[in-house]
Amino acid sequence: MELFDLSIRELHSKLKSKEVSSVEATGAMLARIESVEPQIGSFITVTPGQAMADAEAADKRIASGEMDLLTGIPLALKDIFLTEGIRTTCGSRILSNFVPPYSATAYEKLKEQGVVLLGKLNQDEFAMGSSNESSAFGMVRNPWDTTRIPGGSSGGSASAVAARQATATLGTDTGGSIRQPASHCGCVGLKPTYGRVSRYGVIAYASSLDQVGPLTRDVTDCAIMLGALAGHDPKDSTSVNTPVPDYAAALTGDVKGLRIGLPKEYFIEGLDPDVQTAMSQAIETYRRMGAEFVDISLPHTDYAVATYYLIATAEASSNLARYDGVRFGHRAEEAANLLDMYVKSRSQGFGVEVKRRIMIGTYALSSGYYDAYYVKAQKVRTLIMRDFIRAFEGVDVILTPVAPTPAFKIGEKVNDPLQMYLSDIFTIPVNLAGTCALSVPAGFSADGLPIGLQLIGKPFGEETILRAAHAFEQATEWHTRKAVI
Ligand code: GLN
Repeated sequence: MELFDLSIRELHSKLKSKEVSSVEATGAMLARIESVEPQIGSFITVTPGQAMADAEAADKRIASGEMDLLTGIPLALKDIFLTEGIRTTCGSRILSNFVPPYSATAYEKLKEQGVVLLGKLNQDEFAMGSSNESSAFGMVRNPWDTTRIPGGSSGGSASAVAARQATATLGTDTGGSIRQPASHCGCVGLKPTYGRVSRYGVIAYASSLDQVGPLTRDVTDCAIMLGALAGHDPKDSTSVNTPVPDYAAALTGDVKGLRIGLPKEYFIEGLDPDVQTAMSQAIETYRRMGAEFVDISLPHTDYAVATYYLIATAEASSNLARYDGVRFGHRAEEAANLLDMYVKSRSQGFGVEVKRRIMIGTYALSSGYYDAYYVKAQKVRTLIMRDFIRAFEGVDVILTPVAPTPAFKIGEKVNDPLQMYLSDIFTIPVNLAGTCALSVPAGFSADGLPIGLQLIGKPFGEETILRAAHAFEQATEWHTRKAVI
């Protein structure tokens, strides 16, 4: 095994025993990035200087015996996280020269443990997309098949883990942007409960839905990362002040008696046969381990995509109003007056998908349409939330596919936004309900593409879904396969 192949846990034990130094591990990772990046395109910005300085500091910390689990571990962040002094673009031309004056809390928490920052990862522009094709910094290719998309919007966060360009990464998930790329790239990705992780310093897309979470090689690493990220932050008024459990300690391997719900609305005709097979096999695996299955219904599932595309775009139209060419970001030259400068800066700075969403959201919020669209969507959101509350009265977790198909071809859906939106049908309801869910590798298609399994938990039920995913991982070998690149 190469150093870049190691999980957090494996690298941690080698760093601890001083078998390798963080400088060596970081050097190996930077070399790996250089060699595979031309084929994949995971990064918008690589930060070798920062990485080596972090690694040297980590080695000193290790030598002094003050080591945390993430000390010296080389990580990379989606380019939506503010990083003080390091360019942060959010995948957009409008922020192509933006250098933030402070860092996101999520990154600060990782820094406290002494992590190494390798760089900033590619993503869909302002996290709007499911394929990473809306980035202003080029597409990302799926390491399992470079003619295919890695998923989105955290496409670079998933491809970097799958191509072993980072030991683990951070993403954000507003409608599926951690879980769907994790599924398509064969990694573990977790969207925590709304409020579990601080959103401070994370560029806002749809503030009532956005959550921060990790993408990792395996479930143990995912638990380690969540433990580092979770917790109340006075700087984010929506972060919740409940104690952070020891997530790694929850991985007991025991799912005997666990009640798993299977929502009939998620096992529909039109599901890709390979995805269907992977789900059936996963159910069998859980049965063998002693879990019990319960048929459930989430009756408002059909309305989730429409509801999401009203609420998310409405919030986005408001959040993105701040990019006006005055305070930060791209400013158009040769404007006749102030209004012309706003119009030109925004017209030049935003891409097609972002403009589409600003227009939809503005329309949904405009007087005369507000009640018919935005208010109605909020009411349906409540119904969707109630579906989950009711379902969780009888089950501990809910098992579904992450996406209806494995990774699609680059270009396949780019001209058909509705098809692209529908690919998030199984992930979006979780964000609307505000609860937690993860994707764990559960098989491969006939073409050798990874397929993820989604486990949805109760609010603040991260321990249970991690335990269930870990038990599944112990019983299968999917997570041990590596993309050949
Ligand atoms: N694909 C969904 C969208 O385009 C979700 C994106 C996300 O979770 N950031 O909005």
